[in-house]
Amino acid sequence: MTDRLVVVGGDAGGMTAAAQARRRRPDPGDLAIVAFERGEHTSYSACGIPYYVGDLVHHADDLVARTPSEHRRRGIEMHTRHEVTAIDVDRRSVRVLDLEAGGAERDVGFDGLVIATGAVPLRPDIDGIDATGVHGVQTLADGIALREMIDAERPRRAVVVGGGYIGLELAESLVQREIEVALVEKLAQPMSTLDEDMGALVADALQGVGVDLLLGVGVEAFDVSDGRVRAVVTDARTLPTDLVVLGLGVVPEVGLARAARVRIGETGGVATDAGMATSAEGVWAAGDCVETWHRVTRKPTRIALGTHANKQGRVAGINATGGAARFPGVIGTAVSKICAYEVARTGLGAREAAAAGFDAVAATIESTTRAGYYPDAGPITVKLVAERGSGRVLGGQIVGREGAAKRIDIVATAVWNEMTAEEVLGLDLSYAPPFSPLWDPVLSAARKLVDGG
Ligand SMILES: Cc1cc2nc3c(=O)[nH]c(=O)nc-3n(C[C@H](O)[C@H](O)[C@H](O)COP(=O)(O)OP(=O)(O)OC[C@H]3O[C@@H](n4cnc5c(N)ncnc54)[C@H](O)[C@@H]3O)c2cc1C
Repeated sequence: MTDRLVVVGGDAGGMTAAAQARRRRPDPGDLAIVAFERGEHTSYSACGIPYYVGDLVHHADDLVARTPSEHRRRGIEMHTRHEVTAIDVDRRSVRVLDLEAGGAERDVGFDGLVIATGAVPLRPDIDGIDATGVHGVQTLADGIALREMIDAERPRRAVVVGGGYIGLELAESLVQREIEVALVEKLAQPMSTLDEDMGALVADALQGVGVDLLLGVGVEAFDVSDGRVRAVVTDARTLPTDLVVLGLGVVPEVGLARAARVRIGETGGVATDAGMATSAEGVWAAGDCVETWHRVTRKPTRIALGTHANKQGRVAGINATGGAARFPGVIGTAVSKICAYEVARTGLGAREAAAAGFDAVAATIESTTRAGYYPDAGPITVKLVAERGSGRVLGGQIVGREGAAKRIDIVATAVWNEMTAEEVLGLDLSYAPPFSPLWDPVLSAARKLVDGG
């Protein structure tokens, strides 16, 4: 008899699991893989939305890694515009609503199930938030709607609400569309995942490209007339606008799992073991909907990134087909670009290290992305955080011009392997003038930690 693996959610986590399962059990007569996605698109890059909105990428299709028909050609029964409305772990079935067929529902049985429902963007209960002209950017459909609005209406002014990396990337895109942008952030710095000193560099970069940055400012209401947003009312001032983009962060989409009494972890994501198995027998979960484990704090955490979703999906797909793969946890490595500046972080910042109970020291250096005399050498600031005494590198943050950000991967590797600053200092990294100064900026930061000064 054919086994059936059902996958809920047709993007990074879900479809990586489905593809991996198909790779391991290629015969659809042996294992049927049935995936449900409530939207129209599958396997799309939400990460590319800012560049599509900014017209650096011209076609939305270019952000789709695998279309529904490509999945079908690879032996996955892909159902788009189908929403799973309930999971019955005892009867081993899901209830599916066909969004195109006038609300027809049916039950589909499973032997194994992967929950990959992603995350939902925060939408605070603020007057006017549902008005025309207020856009989210969570799904490709959201990105398309925003781009169509910009192309059709040529807005002059926009307000981005939220200063996380998504808000910042969208601010950049809107600047590139020659729109006057104001960015409102409740906290005192943009990118709260950075330490204050590094966040200040990001603030300078934003202001440098003309973004009107309102920090420590809360949104109170959206002024609406004729159903359309006209202004954002903040506790500092009112910002007239033609367009609002929300980038307020996300929370895991766990409604289905919770209703099925699948255990939810302390951070609000679906709890899994290292094999991505949930508390329910034969049910795995992957991606933004899950809680994961931080290798430095050794505590549960939840960090919504495509990098994690893909790796977790792979593990879920292997284990749902009888394998024994493990997801090793995360250290929160992320990069972003805000106009000419690149921003990166990994592990713990100084503030986070203190909050996690580490006695930490930090060293910050300023250097250049290439040899100082080489054309287009740009500034780069590297901050490394280490445990006092042992010298173990706990994290790092980088802000700088082109060529700066991916240096974070050296730091990430060091944090991952629990290397000390002295060991980092001894790394045999490459050097030639077009790529770095003789002392790579990461080595210079490690040297400052070790030698002081
Ligand atoms: C604008 C933007 C930029 C980003 N940039 C980066 C980046 O540069 N680097 C990075 O690592 N990450 C980035 N991310 C995050 C990354 O996109 C997510 O971490 C990743 O998409 C998570 O994959 P997922 O499969 O867990 O969830 P999602 O991509 O959210 O997919 C979940 C899918 O499940 C579907 N679904 C949910 N419930 C149901 C249901 N009941 N029935 C059927 N279908 C359902 C949803 O429609 C959705 O398509 C960015 C995200 C955004 C929004």
